[in-house]
Amino acid sequence: MKVTVIVGGVGGARFLLGVKAALGLPPVGAAESETKHQVSAVVNTGDDIWLHGLRICPDLDTCMYTLGGGIDTERGWGHANETWTVSEELKAYGADPDWFGLGDKDIATHLIRSRMLRAGYPLSAITEALCDRWKPGVALLPMSDDRVETHVVVDLAQSGERRAIHFQEWWVRHRAKLPAHAFVPVGAEEAKPGPGVLEAIAEADIILLAPSNPVVSIGSVLSVPGLKQAVRAASAPVVGVSPIVGGRPLRGMADACLAAIGVDSTAEAVGQHYGSRKDEGLLDGWLIAEGERADVPGVEVRDIPLIMSDPDATAAMVRAAFELAGVRP
Ligand code: GDP
Ligand code: CA
Repeated sequence: MKVTVIVGGVGGARFLLGVKAALGLPPVGAAESETKHQVSAVVNTGDDIWLHGLRICPDLDTCMYTLGGGIDTERGWGHANETWTVSEELKAYGADPDWFGLGDKDIATHLIRSRMLRAGYPLSAITEALCDRWKPGVALLPMSDDRVETHVVVDLAQSGERRAIHFQEWWVRHRAKLPAHAFVPVGAEEAKPGPGVLEAIAEADIILLAPSNPVVSIGSVLSVPGLKQAVRAASAPVVGVSPIVGGRPLRGMADACLAAIGVDSTAEAVGQHYGSRKDEGLLDGWLIAEGERADVPGVEVRDIPLIMSDPDATAAMVRAAFELAGVRP
């Protein structure tokens, strides 16, 4: 079976562990050729940023480290057993910006990626090369090889001046506390879907929207021209999973993003934001947390436990999505 999942970082990566478990694939590393199932992840690259001459791709790396068994499971991002010597040295030089922590091991990934980018390789090929080491068992497809970076329109605290700042500056430096007026995917207009992305969507047996941030993860992926249309036109059913449980995102600050686009932090409002495929939207099915209710016209809604406490619990969510869509591995 071909499963295509649209993902961001931590929420997306954890969900992919559940997809692998639901299909009976080994949790860490896998010889893709040995299984009858194929999982493709279309990964958000709107968070990507150049820092200290290094190209950082937080969501791609979170997926790669998580699925390859190298993630810091406490933090949910970055390497296990990380050290921070280089970041401390940069700080001692007063090198800007000083608000983005780069672990020493992580820097090796960024060095290789940046060197290959400068040599002219596209991000998709670089990701494949990095995955040779990590063997995520899932094809990690950047949403685009073109540079698309989410910016956030804010009023600067001191001057009150309205400016668009990089998403990472808003998220990491300001902890999403500066009220956001809008999110702008800079570069999206000229971007093309990455190699294999449209194929993975068109050839899928089921398409899943991970419980990732609906605005700056799923929303950024869908900002690449042609991607939303491809999902809408796919022959496979599309099932989304709510990242909002009990009226709040489970981790992170997705509520600040939703507020900025005028969507309430409820499973119902996010489901309605994605909308039904029968009506210009994306969804055939929508999974919400046990005991909650959501009225999303034209979409089949089911409530189930939605806490990704471990890959088995997440696999049960994925199986519920398969059932809702009427597909069988
Ligand atoms: P990021 O790129 O690292 O911010 O990660 P994602 O965008 O992929 O995922 C972030 C979202 O995952 C947050 O909005 C959370 O609400 C959601 N999330 C995290 N853990 C869980 C969980 O156990 N269950 C569900 N349903 N959502 C979760
Ligand atoms: Ca992210």
